[in-house]
Amino acid sequence: MLRVAVVGSGPSGVYTAQALVQQDRVPDVRVDVLDRLPCPYGLVRYGVAPDHEKIKSLQGNLRTVLEDEHVRFLGNVEVGARGLTPARLLEMYHAVVYCVGAARDRHLGVPGEDLVGSRSATEFVSWYSAHPDAAGNGFALGARSAVVIGVGNVAVDVTRILARGADELRPTDVPQDALAALERSGVREVHMVGRRGPGQARFTTKELRELGSLPGASVSVDPADLALDPAFADPSGLPAVNRRNLEVVRGWAAAPETERERRIRLRFFLRPVEFLGEAGRVAGVRFERTEPDGAGGVRGTGVYEDVAAQLVLRAVGYQGVPMPGLPFDESRGTVPHQEGRVLRDGAASPGEYVAGWIKRGPTGVIGTNRPCAKETATSLLADAPTLERREAAADPVAALRDLGQEPVAWPGWLAIERAEADLGRSLGRHTVKIPDWPGLRAAAREAG
Ligand code: NAP
Repeated sequence: MLRVAVVGSGPSGVYTAQALVQQDRVPDVRVDVLDRLPCPYGLVRYGVAPDHEKIKSLQGNLRTVLEDEHVRFLGNVEVGARGLTPARLLEMYHAVVYCVGAARDRHLGVPGEDLVGSRSATEFVSWYSAHPDAAGNGFALGARSAVVIGVGNVAVDVTRILARGADELRPTDVPQDALAALERSGVREVHMVGRRGPGQARFTTKELRELGSLPGASVSVDPADLALDPAFADPSGLPAVNRRNLEVVRGWAAAPETERERRIRLRFFLRPVEFLGEAGRVAGVRFERTEPDGAGGVRGTGVYEDVAAQLVLRAVGYQGVPMPGLPFDESRGTVPHQEGRVLRDGAASPGEYVAGWIKRGPTGVIGTNRPCAKETATSLLADAPTLERREAAADPVAALRDLGQEPVAWPGWLAIERAEADLGRSLGRHTVKIPDWPGLRAAAREAG
């Protein structure tokens, strides 16, 4: 039997487990999928927006893998805490695959970024996704104008949630407190701002188009912003997705504006240089107008524009977090690897692997994790004859308990699911997520 621990139960972790057990090269591979949270699915549960039911339904596929007889989910296990170092974990298993994602949000490094009212999009996403670490860290949403910095899919998600009416979110599993705050929200204008042009924006076309289909919000684009993009006149050199994005944006710029309760303003060629404050709170963002530098980037023009906002969310990408005891490349924010094998001082470290964002950086959609996980699993399976010679604990759960970890196994997670369904019923809604640690732990305990 080859015992493997996969650390992280998001898409990359679950796809890795699947690739390890659904193969006929190495018989009898047993995989424990560990997660710091008592709930599985990583960013599919705690990152995919609640109104994206179709993407959320991927949980069904991930669930099938976690219920495979050769796979075991062990939540509430924190690698890097209570003596469970990577070295200790590697004594318990023949191999360990780290699929821990990129948990930190990036900063802009401009003055005023830490004013009250300026937060990361990640915090906002965690809050409306009921991440237990976000409990008590709410958003008052008294603002009338919000600025979202960045034009990737996370920026689109948070812009859309701010621009949607609470009634549209009630049928989702958004936690009750967040729903109540969104119901009271005074936000009427959301400016989503890119430092480069629409031809270089990172959002995907389907996500972009969705902004134009919100019943309570209009979308406006300033034609003067578009005119700065050379691709606007000749998009032939752009990749297909960017060409399609440009078409959508061009359509909005040409359309007469409709009168709606809320307005989304898409802006381009503006880079944030300072957050403006008033009595310690953010009151706006000063942007410098940029222009294309001819090499895909932009340069400043020395012309500035202030946009008033009482809420600013920066959605400028994620970053990997170093795990003590594992090598880390600070410049890339990833663990150095070769085809998924962790490299220590340039040489493959026996039994240690990575997959997902901690391996390749925070890019790509959920499906991108499939080939990435497959590559890592292929390396691990090729190494199996050597790995099997390593020692492994006969009972890893007992070894984890000895360290003071309290694993929540699959029945515990199923009990959390039932408690969330009950909570939804009691509120006259469908399933509603439990947003805090005590609530999740109490629900898991119901499984005995
Ligand atoms: P992203 O796609 O990398 O976009 C980051 C944005 O921030 C870019 O517009 C970038 O501009 C901008 N930015 C970075 N540094 C900046 C700075 N100093 N000043 C101003 N702007 C700055 O990151 P993301 O939106 O966090 O998404 C991460 C990944 O998750 C992506 O692969 C995304 O597709 C995926 N995702 C997918 C979905 C979905 O499929 N529905 C939803 C959410 C996330 P530049 O391009 O100029 O650097």
